[in-house]
Amino acid sequence: MENFTGSFTQQEPIPDEAIEAAVAVMRSGRLHRYNVAEGEAGEVALLEQEFAEAMGARYALAVASGGYALACALRAVGVKPGDRVLTNAFTLAPVPGAIASIGAVPVFVGVSEALVIDLEDLREKAAQADVLLLSHMRGHLCDMDALLALCEEAGLTLIEDCAHTMGARWRGRLSGTDGLVGCYSTQTYKHMNSGEGGLLITDDAEVAARAVMLSGSYMLYERHLAAPGAEVFEGVKYDTPNVSGRMDNLRAAILRPQLARLDAQCAAWTARYKVVEEGLRGTPGLTVIERPQEEAYVGSSIQFLLLDWSEEKLGKVLSRCAARGVELKWFGGAVPTGFTSRYDSWRYAPSEAMPETDRILRAILDMRLPLTFSLEDCALIARIIRAEVGAVHQSA
Ligand SMILES: *Cc1c(COP(=O)(O)O)cnc(C)c1O
Repeated sequence: MENFTGSFTQQEPIPDEAIEAAVAVMRSGRLHRYNVAEGEAGEVALLEQEFAEAMGARYALAVASGGYALACALRAVGVKPGDRVLTNAFTLAPVPGAIASIGAVPVFVGVSEALVIDLEDLREKAAQADVLLLSHMRGHLCDMDALLALCEEAGLTLIEDCAHTMGARWRGRLSGTDGLVGCYSTQTYKHMNSGEGGLLITDDAEVAARAVMLSGSYMLYERHLAAPGAEVFEGVKYDTPNVSGRMDNLRAAILRPQLARLDAQCAAWTARYKVVEEGLRGTPGLTVIERPQEEAYVGSSIQFLLLDWSEEKLGKVLSRCAARGVELKWFGGAVPTGFTSRYDSWRYAPSEAMPETDRILRAILDMRLPLTFSLEDCALIARIIRAEVGAVHQSA
């Protein structure tokens, strides 16, 4: 019997070029983004400029975390304490957490079998809020054309959580460029790794200026290379609080060489995804998530469904795969464990029962595909899952 011995949480090392850039920042002692020598732009300002260019956005801001980027975007578009904000029931804790952090109230929208936001449920709930914080959870993009039409019709401002879709596209448009603001994470398990970190992009000058002020620019916004002109700040600088959450030059130095390699990394993830997907296809009792033609996804993780399986059988699949070295995460657990949790475990936020969503969440099995896995590793992982799902499926 074959076993897998790799680690699902082991990322690739930081590229040598990035290590050298980080060491140079440390030797300079100038780690704070606004601590720059005469004529020096600083790593953070350069990262913002390069990220804006890579995404085709007018403005970019680097911040302390993905969760910070989300909260900063919400504030910058004008969400106030007590406001309701629509968001996905299938997402991770920092998303409702960002809404709660500014005193606003999440309104959860259900998930479809394709693991994207349920547009019918969104339509029904749209009147309850002015803002949708759309989480492209696990890299699944919904029909972004239909979503934009719905937002337009319902007067919803769209903020995108692209923690899992940096580099992905819908009909050629980069994820994060459809909304008023696109937010990204550079935490270790995302598509670029600075330990912790976040980025946001927007084409709206006032939103960009507010975000810069919020992040804690003091009055040094003119040192930014991907921010609007000083005249835009005149209109917002006295009434936008400083909620410090800047990125530092050390992390930006680590990220810039990674940004240059982003496309190649995304292709490497997706190659791994396709091997696992092919290996799982046709397994009795297992539903592969069919990806739409319009979506160019980044396969940094893969999900499949065991729809309507009993908890007991699901538990057996998890433990049998684990015994052979394959770590699957289950979103159906009644109590949150590790990174998985569900809308009804965020008890600070009210939620109505969503039986259809619960049925999907109970069926989702989820697995990371770090780039330290080879294509052969991925084929082996798929064979193990296929065998164990098959064995449990057949058993009475
Ligand atoms: C990681 C993540 C974030 C942001 O996370 P940070 O850890 O704050 O950088 C936001 N949304 C989703 C879905 C995530 O997985």
